[in-house]
Amino acid sequence: MKTIGLIGGMSWESTQTYYRLINEGVKAELGGLHSAKLVLYSVDFAEIESLQHQGNWPATAEILMNAAQALERAGADFIVICTNTMHKVAEQIEQAIRIPLLHIADATAAVLKLDAIKRIGLLGTRFTMEQTFYRERLEHHGIQVIIPDKQQRERIHSVIYNELCLGKINAQSKHDYLEIVTSLKDQGAEGVILGCTEIGLLIQRSDTNVTLYDTTEIHAHEAVKVALNHIKD
Ligand code: GLU
Repeated sequence: MKTIGLIGGMSWESTQTYYRLINEGVKAELGGLHSAKLVLYSVDFAEIESLQHQGNWPATAEILMNAAQALERAGADFIVICTNTMHKVAEQIEQAIRIPLLHIADATAAVLKLDAIKRIGLLGTRFTMEQTFYRERLEHHGIQVIIPDKQQRERIHSVIYNELCLGKINAQSKHDYLEIVTSLKDQGAEGVILGCTEIGLLIQRSDTNVTLYDTTEIHAHEAVKVALNHIKD
């Protein structure tokens, strides 16, 4: 079994989910007392969040490059960044290490392709929805991306930072998210990507008849497959 290197803490609420899903995945495959071999480097999210909102992405890259190098030294065979947003600096991280990085948008695109999805809605932070680094990665796989309108994007972003990353689950926010999911479907989306690793804490598949693609689940599942050599990294 390969050793997974997790860059987590963004936020720790979703890193817990990664840790659980990866261990459940290994147990499901190998049975008994088997569990995942992994190393976790968990950052202080307050530092990252403040740099993000100042637009100081080079400083965030520096922190995550150091984390990735520490994981490599600790014996990780490949890297998983436990957030969609920070894939903005994925290329810099890749250049700082010799081991591969398992990109969350590529893992998600692979699942969408299996389902023959051509047009998808995207929920995430404003950075993920509005900037090109994430959408273009999906479009590169031949998938058209639809994002919510400005007011909806602001609502989604605010709930992520002011509630979900603080572990707060609010009924009104859930209602608003589900309304936005429906509006994306009405605009022709064949499904919706939960493109922020905390959104799965708020809405789940059973809440809607729109197909939801939870990036935390997809990414954790892919990490298990790579760790168990079921697919090449
Ligand atoms: N975990 C979130 C994501 O997947 C947001 C937190 C962050 O900005 O990293 O984008």
